[in-house]
Amino acid sequence: MRRPPVSLPTRNNPYAFDEFLQWRKNVDYYGDDPFLRKALEHFTGGDWESVDAEARKISPLVSFRWRDMAESAAVPEKRPFLMQYDGHHNRIDRIVRPRETEIMEREIFSEGLFSPLSSPWIKLMKMFLIYQNGEACIACPVTCTEGLVAILEKFADTPETQCILQHCREGIDGDYAIGAQYLSEIQGGSDVPSNVLEAVHEDGVWRLYGTKFFCSATHADYAVVTAKPAGSDKVALFVIPSWLPGDKERERRNGYTIDRLKWKLGTSELTTAEMTLNGAVAYPLGPLERGVANVVGIVLTYSRLTVGLSAAASMTRAAREAVRYAAFREAFGEKIGRFPMMTGQLRGMERAARRTTAGAFRLYRDFLEMGGELKGGLGADEPAGVREKRFNIRELIMLQKISASRDCTGLIHEAMSVFGGHGVMEDFSSLPRLYRDSAVNELWEGPRNVLLSQIHRDCQRASSWYRPSSFVAGILDGADGRIIADLGKEMDELVAHPSLVRQDEETVAVCGRWDGFCDRLFHAYQDRALEEVEG
Ligand SMILES: Cc1cc2nc3c(=O)[nH]c(=O)nc-3n(C[C@H](O)[C@H](O)[C@H](O)COP(=O)(O)OP(=O)(O)OC[C@H]3O[C@@H](n4cnc5c(N)ncnc54)[C@H](O)[C@@H]3O)c2cc1C
Repeated sequence: MRRPPVSLPTRNNPYAFDEFLQWRKNVDYYGDDPFLRKALEHFTGGDWESVDAEARKISPLVSFRWRDMAESAAVPEKRPFLMQYDGHHNRIDRIVRPRETEIMEREIFSEGLFSPLSSPWIKLMKMFLIYQNGEACIACPVTCTEGLVAILEKFADTPETQCILQHCREGIDGDYAIGAQYLSEIQGGSDVPSNVLEAVHEDGVWRLYGTKFFCSATHADYAVVTAKPAGSDKVALFVIPSWLPGDKERERRNGYTIDRLKWKLGTSELTTAEMTLNGAVAYPLGPLERGVANVVGIVLTYSRLTVGLSAAASMTRAAREAVRYAAFREAFGEKIGRFPMMTGQLRGMERAARRTTAGAFRLYRDFLEMGGELKGGLGADEPAGVREKRFNIRELIMLQKISASRDCTGLIHEAMSVFGGHGVMEDFSSLPRLYRDSAVNELWEGPRNVLLSQIHRDCQRASSWYRPSSFVAGILDGADGRIIADLGKEMDELVAHPSLVRQDEETVAVCGRWDGFCDRLFHAYQDRALEEVEG
C-alpha cells in the first residue's frame, strides 16, 4: 500500500472525473467484452460467424447512439405523460413520449428482430446488448412483441390476426408494430384465473368490457389481453388492436380509454396505465378455454426469459463500470479497488455477471433445442426423455426469473456502493436507473412467491415420473457429483412436504428453506454454464 500523499490546501481544486468518463464514453459493449464474445461463441455453435458479424455491426449503435438516447430520455422533465383530450374535446388518450424514445424505438424495431429471416441467436445477442441500456421504454415492448409474435405464429388463422403477425414480424410499409400484454386486474395480477374482464360475442365479433389495472407499453399497436367469455369461468386469450384500421391517424382508440398512468419507482420511461375497455374489438387466440395455459406457456415464457437476459445485461454493465471506477478512484492515497475489502467484492460482481450471462445463454440454447415452446400439462403426451427435458426448461425459466432478477438488484446495489455517494446520483451514472428497473423486473411476469410455489407444485406433480433428485441431476449434468447429490437430497426432502399453502409452522419453515434452496440450485446451474464457457 502506498502512503497517502500529503495534501496541502489550494483554492483551485483540480480534481476531475475525465479519465473515467472518457473510458466510459468509448466502451463498445460487444467489441470490448471478451467474455461476452467467448460465451456467444460457445453457445451459438454453427451460428457463431453470423452472430459475431451482426454483433460488430449493431454494437456501436447500442453502445453510443442508443445509450445516449436512453440516458437523455430518462430525465424527470421528459417523463412520458397522457393527453386524454385534444384541443377540440376529442378523446385521444395520446401517450406523449420524448423524441429520443420514439426515434430509438423506430430504429430498434426496424432491426426486424422477429422477422423469420433473423436467426434466434442474432435476436438474442441484439437483445442482450440493447438491454444494457436499461428498460428505456424498449425492453418491455420488445419482449411483449416477441410473445405476441410467438402466440400469433401458433394461432393466427384469420385475415386480421395474420395481418397483425405480418405487421409485427416484417413491418408494413417500413412500420414495425409494437406489442403489449394486459393480464393484471385490480383484484390481483398473480392469480390470472381470477380475471373478470368480460368478452362478449356480438354480431360476429368479440368485444371486451371491463378494466385492466397494469397496462405497460400503453403506446403499443396491439395487446394480448386475457378475458372471460360471458358465462364462462375459463380465461380466454385475445389480441386487440389499439386502433382499428384507419383510426390511428385520427387517434381514435379501439373501444377503450386510458384512465391514468401510474407513478412508479422504475421503468419510468415506459408508461403503465389503468384502462377501461368498453367494447374493444378483440380477436381470439387459440381455444377459448386454453387462455391461461397459452398465455403462461407461450407469452410469459418469453417475458420471463427476457427478465433473465436483461438481468445478465444490467449486471454486466454495472460490474464493468464499478470495476473501472474502482481502478480510477483513489482514497487514502490508494486506488479504491486495491483495498482488499473491495477487491473481493469486485471479483464477486464480475463473476456473478458472468455466470448470469452464461446461464441465460445456456438456458436459451436448451430452450431452442426443444423447439422454443413450452406446453401446458407438463407434456403428458410426450416420450419420457423429451418430457423430462421440457420439464427442465419450464422450471429453469421460472428459477432464472426469480433468481437472476433478485441477483441483479443486489449486484447493482453493490456496484452503486463502489461509487460511494456518486452511486445514487442519477446524473452521475445510469446505475440508479438500472437499479430501479431491476426492482420492477423482480415483480412483473410472476412475482417471486408465486413462481416459488409453482415450481414446488410442478415438482410434486411430476415426482411420480421424475424424482426431484433426478431433475437436479438432469439440469446439473456434468457438475461436481457432491453438489448434485447434496442438492438432490435436499430437493427430494423439500418436495416431499405435502403443500406450501398448508397453514402451520412446519410449512412456514419449509417455505423459508425452499426460497433459499431455489437460488442455490439455480446458481449451481449458472456455475455449470460458466464452467462450460471457460472450458
Ligand atoms: C411497473 C409494472 C408494470 C406492470 N405491467 C404490467 C403489464 O403490462 N401487464 C400486466 O398484465 N401486468 C403488469 N404488471 C403487473 C404485474 O404482473 C403484477 O404486479 C404481478 O403479477 C403481481 O400481481 P399483484 O401486483 O396484483 O400482486 P398480488 O397478486 O396481490 O400479490 C401480492 C403478493 O402476494 C404474493 N402471492 C400471491 N400469491 C401467492 C401464493 N400463492 N403464495 C405465496 N405468495 C403469493 C405475491 O408473490 C406478491 O408478493 C406490472 C407491474 C409493475 C410493477
